[in-house]
Amino acid sequence: MNSPELKQLIKTLAFATQKHRHQRRKDIEASPYINHPITLVDILVNEGDVTDPETLIAALLHDTIEDTDTTVEEIEAEFGLTVAGLVMEVTDDGSLPKLERKALQIKHAPELSYQARLVKLADKIANLRDIDKSPPAGWSLDRMQGYFDWAKEVIDGLRGTHDILEAIFDEVYDKRPRG
Ligand code: NDP
Ligand code: ZN
Repeated sequence: MNSPELKQLIKTLAFATQKHRHQRRKDIEASPYINHPITLVDILVNEGDVTDPETLIAALLHDTIEDTDTTVEEIEAEFGLTVAGLVMEVTDDGSLPKLERKALQIKHAPELSYQARLVKLADKIANLRDIDKSPPAGWSLDRMQGYFDWAKEVIDGLRGTHDILEAIFDEVYDKRPRG
């Protein structure tokens, strides 16, 4: 990564940190939300050997439109059209009911761009690890299992994208909680 790319990545980190500053994850300790986008970048770079700057920037921003007041116009102005498009690809339509959103993630997975698929893989790896190590407060066994199975359906729709990340996903899926 050259110096302008590094500067842009750090600018993105500062932007995402600011946007998620009031949010917490759903685990019992209510961890700072920003840990999650940072974890995606860690998975992509250090486990998947992904160094494409647009992918890493989109990973840092992947939940900003869905979960904060950030608009697509703002991302386009700050980070350009490609990154804005990638973030939109991994953003659910908030006007739809939750169950419909989940069905659409399965339906749309095969249509995602290569870069968006990488972000999706890292997101599902991160969330399954979170459920394994620090699950959302109050989730039943059934709900955790349901989440693991849904995540697998999404990832099964984009197989053939990145062998290492898919193998890591499968390893994490093997930790599906048992009764
Ligand atoms: P949610 O979509 O409500 O929560 C999961 C999401 O929360 C993850 O995708 C992740 O999204 C984020 N998240 C934050 N903290 C954590 C953490 N510690 N571990 C893992 N993920 C975390 O869950 P469901 O998909 O289960 O529910 C969808 C809908 O179904 C909801 O409306 C729910 O009420 C309903 N429902 C489902 C049941 C079931 O058995 N599945 C039972 C009862 C209700 P991100 O990457 O965006 O942060
Ligand atoms: Zn996420």
